[in-house]
Amino acid sequence: MEIYKGTATFSGIAIGKVLYYHRSEYQIRQYMVSNVKKELSEFNEARLQVIRQLKELYEKNCPVQEMEAKIFLKQAKLLEAGSFQRAVESAIVTEKVNAAFAVMTTRDELAATFRNLEEPAIRERIANIREISDRLIGVLGGVSPKIDLGPEPVILVAENLSPTEIMEMDKDKLLAVVTHQGSVISHASIMAKTMDIPAMVDIEVQDEWDGESAIVDGYTGTLYLKPDAELLKEYEIRRKADLEEREELMKLKDQRDMTADGKEVGLYANIGNLGDLNSVLFYGAAGIGLLRSEFQYLGRENYPRENELFRAYKKVAETMGERLAVIRTVDLGADKQAEYMGIPEEANPILGNRGIRLCLDRKKMFKAQLRAIYRASAFGNLAMMYPMITSEEEMDEIEEMIEDVKSGLREKNIPFKDIRTGIMIETPAAVMISRELAKRVDFLSLGTNDLTQYTLAMDRQNPLLKKKYNDHHPAVLRMIRMVTEAGHQEGCTICICGELAADTGLTETFLRMGVDSLSVVPACILPVRKALRESYSNQAEG
Ligand code: PEP
Ligand code: MG
Repeated sequence: MEIYKGTATFSGIAIGKVLYYHRSEYQIRQYMVSNVKKELSEFNEARLQVIRQLKELYEKNCPVQEMEAKIFLKQAKLLEAGSFQRAVESAIVTEKVNAAFAVMTTRDELAATFRNLEEPAIRERIANIREISDRLIGVLGGVSPKIDLGPEPVILVAENLSPTEIMEMDKDKLLAVVTHQGSVISHASIMAKTMDIPAMVDIEVQDEWDGESAIVDGYTGTLYLKPDAELLKEYEIRRKADLEEREELMKLKDQRDMTADGKEVGLYANIGNLGDLNSVLFYGAAGIGLLRSEFQYLGRENYPRENELFRAYKKVAETMGERLAVIRTVDLGADKQAEYMGIPEEANPILGNRGIRLCLDRKKMFKAQLRAIYRASAFGNLAMMYPMITSEEEMDEIEEMIEDVKSGLREKNIPFKDIRTGIMIETPAAVMISRELAKRVDFLSLGTNDLTQYTLAMDRQNPLLKKKYNDHHPAVLRMIRMVTEAGHQEGCTICICGELAADTGLTETFLRMGVDSLSVVPACILPVRKALRESYSNQAEG
């Protein structure tokens, strides 16, 4: 037996045979063509056929994975009378080579030209060109690039997987996905999550594993290759229990979020990009309790413009329809920054210019976001909340800016709604003045991740403090109670949106404190729903 440790990206247990996936490399013959016109027309037919294939793939995948499926439309667009088409046609005409060979050389030349560019948009374009080229060559040479998983379900092992590759697979044949490259947020992991199968990355996969039996433990991120009989038996039992538990949980997909003693609780989802919108709906969340809006600001060269922000928020509003979607205004600084922001180095960035402080320092940036949120509010049920608030003066400044934004929109006759606003309670200062803060907004949302680190004075990312970092510390729990009471006195609803909200060991405690809603990552919706349906919110009946 061999044991490999990686990083689990989605939980679950799989037992089965390994299929080592090699990306197919076509053997393409080069030959001279005497009839260039005929070759051009064959290329054109292949091009149209691939466009049709891609559009069909988009239609097929769109209902479940709309964001990911859009890649097929992008690829189809590349084939619709653009520079790629012209380059292939020119190779056929000037070099008098066969179409498949012309496609391959065009693909390789483009990849070589842009090889050293790190720009994500260019890398994506090159990956898309590779994929459309493979399809074209498949059509021209009669070879299909579709991954054949064979007759039995398998544990798919690969160096890397593209979104297209994973989306084209027959999902009934996949037991688990194990790759070397990728991360918790890579496309392949996100899709494995949506497909509800265990997945892990960071494992140095080897092609000689092909055909071997294996166990994937998506809870611990462990791959057991050629497991011995005893371990196999143990995992058979665990897998059965795991499947039963999951099946039970899936029954809760459309159930109401109501405690055993009949109290309605709001169960919302935390998301960090638009790709997660479908899973919010899939698991039947009441809406989005925390949209971390940083995703549009990081990993790029300059600030996003108001229109770009607006389009994203509009998409959120429209996708969620009547469901509430709370956009957390951008929480940059500390560990979330990009070079273009030019944030000066700080001795203690965690205690530095982050969250609302940075926004109030950079009013142009902040105003663009506020305007985008208000403009998008006309398209659904949006709300907005502010991170890292520590004082009422910050609220004064925000309110002034909001008035300014609203009157600007009115002047231009741009429609908007008077959306609900909230404050994130993430600092002890905010806890202590939560009653005053509650007077200024409609809801308070407890960011227990930061609240814990600031209360314990322990960096939440410091590995040396892992064992000492007690997120169940009585000080934190007492603060949650204080905030709930103070907020309710001023008519605010109270949500918990930090990771603690998904801790099912505390669900009943929170409900008894009077917390109105919880917001957790989509994959935790069902376990939390189960916990709250078994909980009593009223002390007397517990
Ligand atoms: C929190 O601090 O609990 C929170 C939800 O915000 P973030 O994790 O994005 O800092
Ligand atoms: Mg926070």
